[in-house]
Amino acid sequence: MRYKGYLIDLDGTIYVGKKRLHEAESFIKTLQQKQIPFLFVTNNATKSPEMVQTFLQNSLDIEVNISQIYTSGLAALDYLLAEKLGNKGFVIGEQILKEQFLNAGFIEEKEHPNFVLQALDTQVTYNDLKMASLAIQQGAKYIVTNIDKQYPTEKGFVPGAGAIKELLVAATRVEPIIIGKPSSIIMNHAINRLGVRKEDVIMVGDNYQTDILAGIDNGIDTLLTLTGVTQKSDIPHLPKVPTHIVNDLSEWNYL
Ligand SMILES: [Mg+2]
Repeated sequence: MRYKGYLIDLDGTIYVGKKRLHEAESFIKTLQQKQIPFLFVTNNATKSPEMVQTFLQNSLDIEVNISQIYTSGLAALDYLLAEKLGNKGFVIGEQILKEQFLNAGFIEEKEHPNFVLQALDTQVTYNDLKMASLAIQQGAKYIVTNIDKQYPTEKGFVPGAGAIKELLVAATRVEPIIIGKPSSIIMNHAINRLGVRKEDVIMVGDNYQTDILAGIDNGIDTLLTLTGVTQKSDIPHLPKVPTHIVNDLSEWNYL
């Protein structure tokens, strides 16, 4: 089966932390040579498409347009605009997310927001969590960019957006609307951006719980690459199998 469009994860799939995956870079070059549309889809809301673009260009050998990079932060803003939940929001997130939020036309409001948008925020304070908890209990819609609990660093895992989410859920007993993979929200927006019919699209990633379930749960074929989170030894235990599995992207022959 040849696919007409690719949705592709970044970390663990195209590179691993600071380590290059040359076969993944060749894979992207082939997509570009064959003019097959693709979109990088990442749960990381702490970086802008411009920052990702610069990293891909300077640290790897990948040149893409910023429109080919879609983060859970952008998907959250697309969702908020589409659902018309109001324009006043309280954002827990990195500066870049706050800028994207303002650029999309939203207004910061801590006391009586229409919604709380929560992502990974490395500067989060108790007061932020307190204000968010109170707003959610007063009826503000609670939106979370992604539920990755562990954020990988060279020294080990540190709390991710999902860990902060657990704290707010414990305080409010309100479950948030989840935007990032495996949610249908980011996938539907990503498919629209790609402009290819869902049946002709494949989702490529290294993480079964996010990338592969995002495909399986949303009727999109999947390609699991064993270069990141999900290991060969996990495969016998996966509840539903990915459409395709490769050790790395040099094994993908259907381009
Ligand atoms: Mg990944």
